Amino acid sequence: MPMVSMRQLLDEAAKGGYGVGAFNVNNMEQIQAIMEAARETKSPAIIQASRGARSYAQDRYLYHLMLAAVELYPEIPIVLHLDHGNSPETCKSAIDMGFTSVMMDGSLMADGKTPSTFEYNVEATRKVVEMAHAKGVTVEGEIGVLGGIEDGHGAGVDALAHVTDPGQAEEFVRLTGVDALAIAIGTSHGAYKFSKKPSGETLKMQRLIEIHNRLPNVHLVMHGSSSVPQELQDIINKYGGQIKPTWGVPVEEIQLGIKNGVRKVNVDTDSRLAITGAIRKVLFESPEKFDPRDYLKPAREAMKNIIAERMRQFGQAGHAGDYEPTSLAEMARRYAQPVVA
Ligand SMILES: [Zn+2]
Repeated sequence: MPMVSMRQLLDEAAKGGYGVGAFNVNNMEQIQAIMEAARETKSPAIIQASRGARSYAQDRYLYHLMLAAVELYPEIPIVLHLDHGNSPETCKSAIDMGFTSVMMDGSLMADGKTPSTFEYNVEATRKVVEMAHAKGVTVEGEIGVLGGIEDGHGAGVDALAHVTDPGQAEEFVRLTGVDALAIAIGTSHGAYKFSKKPSGETLKMQRLIEIHNRLPNVHLVMHGSSSVPQELQDIINKYGGQIKPTWGVPVEEIQLGIKNGVRKVNVDTDSRLAITGAIRKVLFESPEKFDPRDYLKPAREAMKNIIAERMRQFGQAGHAGDYEPTSLAEMARRYAQPVVA
């Protein structure tokens, strides 16, 4: 089936009461790992690329790899999403390329580092919504500022410095018309999220629930939601790595979020850990090997395994065949309809 809008995929997830993992990619092996996990678990798939990924792989390579995925996995609804677009121009370039969903992260200025004002965020995001919806493309916005920094993107602040204000979230959605909303509830990007296992209190889950109660029809997005499993850290460290002790977001907290309006769950670090551990193991145990396939195959397999596990945990498994794809043209037509109060 053709690539679908993220709006359709998340609307279906809301109906079914499940969440959908959004997994980052930079290369062919990562796309293959996600697609194999989706086939194995019969899951819809959100594949996302950041600005860093687009420049690393070159846009057109990534896009054509995605077209290959669409051809090879006709039974899987697939979304190609831009992660953390830093400006309307970046979002436009993704839409022009064929992305079916974009994130306009106006919580930061275009430098991707400096926290912005509410007014700037509304203005930039509304611009993207107009442009994207005219083509049936989905828009994710962000209100509040996430902790940490990854791929050069992020304010690098403490994860609790700019937790999302529920009133502001409501106002933001009303003024911009975004389809999905990323909120800051204490998560951060990268592997080093928490120095001990976080509780629902550390993660401000009550805040998330309050936002969901105010905005029951908006799809909430949890960023920085890798769980950073101890086993994956151990494999890396066993074979010469130096990951310092760290904790991610416990899966049970994500599942609580999913019960309360979270429909998209961003995971990148877990894939990176799985890949790096598998590569280290081969290079450590078989130092005579030099064919990249000898370590990329186990790396791809390790990433597939962790993603398939997340797909089952988020509840998306078994839902790939629930619906027929709605074309972007049809989505655009729906967005153009006057809202009936
Ligand atoms: Zn993010």
